[in-house]
Amino acid sequence: MSLPAVQVSQSPESKFREYLASRPKPQRYTEQQRDMVRYIFSQHHHFDADQLIDRMKQAGFRVSRATIYRTLAKLVDAGLLRRLELGSKTFYEHDYGYPQHEHLVCEACGNMIEFQNSTLETILNDVCREHQFHRTGHTFIVRGTCAECNRARVTKRRLDMI
Ligand SMILES: [Zn+2]
Ligand SMILES: [Zn+2]
Repeated sequence: MSLPAVQVSQSPESKFREYLASRPKPQRYTEQQRDMVRYIFSQHHHFDADQLIDRMKQAGFRVSRATIYRTLAKLVDAGLLRRLELGSKTFYEHDYGYPQHEHLVCEACGNMIEFQNSTLETILNDVCREHQFHRTGHTFIVRGTCAECNRARVTKRRLDMI
């Protein structure tokens, strides 16, 4: 399930190319990077580097581990991807062209539920104003168990009692 996209003026690819060209030492947009950007932006997912490597290999792409890690860091720096730190793992998701949102993360099945809440936004704005804090972003992750896992747990408990 993903949230409705936000209108953006450029394609992720052209934004990334622009970023590479504007580095102090301009960098070339390689074929592997192009494959990565196209693959990542073809669907909205929360993924870690290993999942991306596996999925791209399965889809028939030739990508090196080092390139994946290096490019992910650049995509974050370019404002295309957002990092989500979850325990010891780092997940990535679209930032460019995707609305700000928060996450509920199921610790049983790993499911990530995205939500937006205007009251939360208001609270954050108030808190920042109080501290004269200029906010550039935030990560808000709620851990727990999702509805499906809760149901499974209740069923299991019932069966255990029989
Ligand atoms: Zn779950
Ligand atoms: Zn998300």
